[in-house]
Amino acid sequence: MRWFDAHNHLQDPRLGHDPVGMVSTAAAHGIAGMVVNGTSEADWPQVRRLAEQCPSVIPAFGLHPWRVSARSGAWREVLVECLNHTPRVGLGEVGLDRWILDQPLERCLAMGTGPQGPAPLEIQLEVLEVQLDLASARGLPVTLHCLKAWGALLDCLRRRPRLPRGFLLHSYGGPAELVNEWVGLGGCFSISGHSLHPRKATHAAVLRAIPRDRLLLETDAPDQLPPPEWVSHPATDVHGHPVNHPANLVRIAEGVSGLLGIPIEELSAQCEANWMQFFGPRLQDVTEPLPMGFLTAPSGSAAIAAAARASDPTGSCSGHR
Ligand SMILES: [Zn+2]
Repeated sequence: MRWFDAHNHLQDPRLGHDPVGMVSTAAAHGIAGMVVNGTSEADWPQVRRLAEQCPSVIPAFGLHPWRVSARSGAWREVLVECLNHTPRVGLGEVGLDRWILDQPLERCLAMGTGPQGPAPLEIQLEVLEVQLDLASARGLPVTLHCLKAWGALLDCLRRRPRLPRGFLLHSYGGPAELVNEWVGLGGCFSISGHSLHPRKATHAAVLRAIPRDRLLLETDAPDQLPPPEWVSHPATDVHGHPVNHPANLVRIAEGVSGLLGIPIEELSAQCEANWMQFFGPRLQDVTEPLPMGFLTAPSGSAAIAAAARASDPTGSCSGHR
């Protein structure tokens, strides 16, 4: 069986300084592909380097909502440069986070918000819209982070032109009643090992509501550590704190198989098909670099809307052509 990690951050220094070795270990355990997500201008170069070294790594570049206030004046140009660098690329991790706005500054700083703390939701939204415009113009799959901002995210996606390649809600923690809304907008969902914690038992019903052709698996390494019985590769950061290793994906898949009541072989085949549909070959069709002049176009411009309309109207994981 082969597995695909739809979301991780192997460039994170908590995982040490040998991400290439970690990709090899994961590959030896059946992980055939992974998307490594950048979070800010500071880590995009490392993600880019890792993808150059490892063909099984699909890089994703994006400004994470926690990093918004730490962005430079040139962040969009730097992002476009990263996206242009490789034809096989995604946009992520981007999104909205209201949860972090209620955290003490000290905690926010430890989570990498930069000295000013987290950006207010309006600014997060502005930055998200710019990045979604880029994804629309470039035909990129988008990986979204959302915490306690489900209504704002839904409003944003509803009023915009449909994303041509759809979007992935990573480690979905939203309500069951919104699952169909996201599906209708072209959404996929990835489940992490965090869902296997007994305290998350009530959330399992939400995950069972996800259509099978929209389902992916992720580690979110180094975060979202599963409970100990689902950890095959124990790992710690330099301070001795446990972190999630990407090779844990196989055990996570076994846990999710039980949680959703899907036989393991069936889960593997379905997730591979969904991976190919969402992150797969169509990416390689897109080779035209995005001109820097794109950045002068206002967000949500008519040109972008037209580009989105011209693309696959089903625009989603199941929108096979
Ligand atoms: Zn993440």
